[in-house]
Amino acid sequence: MIQLYNVSKIYPGGIQALLDVTVHIDKGEFVFLMGPSGAGKSTLLRLLLREETPTRGQVLVGGRSLARLKPREVPLLRRSIGMVFQDFRLLEERTVYENVAFALEVLEYPREEVRRRVPALLEMVGLAERGRAFPRQLSGGEQQRVAIARAIANNPPIVLADEPTGNLDAKTAWEVMGLLDKINKRGATVVVATHNREI
Ligand code: ADP
Repeated sequence: MIQLYNVSKIYPGGIQALLDVTVHIDKGEFVFLMGPSGAGKSTLLRLLLREETPTRGQVLVGGRSLARLKPREVPLLRRSIGMVFQDFRLLEERTVYENVAFALEVLEYPREEVRRRVPALLEMVGLAERGRAFPRQLSGGEQQRVAIARAIANNPPIVLADEPTGNLDAKTAWEVMGLLDKINKRGATVVVATHNREI
């Protein structure tokens, strides 16, 4: 599902974020990307989304070389990847329901389909009753669950999470990891970047 061959990433200014990294991640795997802050975890995730390009080496997602993607194919790649961030990145002026619905609306899902999917997604992350709430009215763990519902709204085969528990206490972190586990068991390939060994 994800392959890196001898990938190096050197940022302008000479900062070496990745050096000769070769990784194979199979469909359906749950993989942790571990290392201290600055180790290059986010860089690796950004390469998979083609937000960065490698200085050397090759990156393949779903069997396709990202270097060969045409510009119009990049949105298709990104649609196949659900992304979860440490800081949730919800739309503060929109409700929980609207945050999740928006992910489908931008992909031009029909209105009926959005109405059908969003409640099921909120149910899946345990927030069926909180659709009308705004992000600021939720705990950190609840906000992250909304962000996860949004990330999986279109059923992407890959879910990437960059320090998803970085802003959460231990108990809530555990719940969020349980949710990612559930998403993996439903078939998605999950990659979690974290510096936290306990996680
Ligand atoms: P991690 O996610 O493991 O904390 P990062 O991939 O964010 O690591 O960063 C790896 C290294 O690359 C760090 O030294 C960081 O400062 C540097 N870096 C990350 N992004 C950029 C960038 N856009 N420009 C220059 N240096 C960067």
